[in-house]
Amino acid sequence: MLTTGPLNEVPAGAPQPAGAHGTGASLPRALLLNASGEPLCVVSLHRAVVLVMTGKATVLESEGRLLHSERAAIPLPVVLSLTRYVHVPTRRPVPPTRRTVLQRDDHRCAYCGGGADTVDHVLPRSRGGRHEWGNVVAACVRCNHRKADHLLHELGWELRFTPRAPRWSVAFGAAAVRAEPVWSRYLAA
Ligand SMILES: [Zn+2]
Repeated sequence: MLTTGPLNEVPAGAPQPAGAHGTGASLPRALLLNASGEPLCVVSLHRAVVLVMTGKATVLESEGRLLHSERAAIPLPVVLSLTRYVHVPTRRPVPPTRRTVLQRDDHRCAYCGGGADTVDHVLPRSRGGRHEWGNVVAACVRCNHRKADHLLHELGWELRFTPRAPRWSVAFGAAAVRAEPVWSRYLAA
């Protein structure tokens, strides 16, 4: 996991304060990027403000409101970037599991676009398909059942997107990734 300096932060799935959901009125956490633009972790608002005030990070996306401290007013950070690159030696790729695949595909079926809660191998395992990010997609039960061991062209089906490994690391839980729509641009594969 992440162990360096400013990266030790709240667990990604930490509960949000009451009233923080849905309204957009309150953003209790911010997405922290490395100086290279790579997403690192989710930090508390307090931590985000400290990073900005100490010059360790700059705000890339903010909410309109200003946060007032004793010395200054800064925009409420939503996405921020470290000013100096931090080497993260143990960055493990996220393995494709049911949960992470559904998360990457936003619970949308790759074939029909409907709500999905199963995972399908595009090239079926019975035909040599591997269990890897480029070959797994979220699928609804109906499409998954109809597809079975067929190839897409046999059914005249097409993928609605090209499956790729996500950029987010294991540091991000489902809650963190889904928390703020603004973050998605920085987390996209
Ligand atoms: Zn479907």
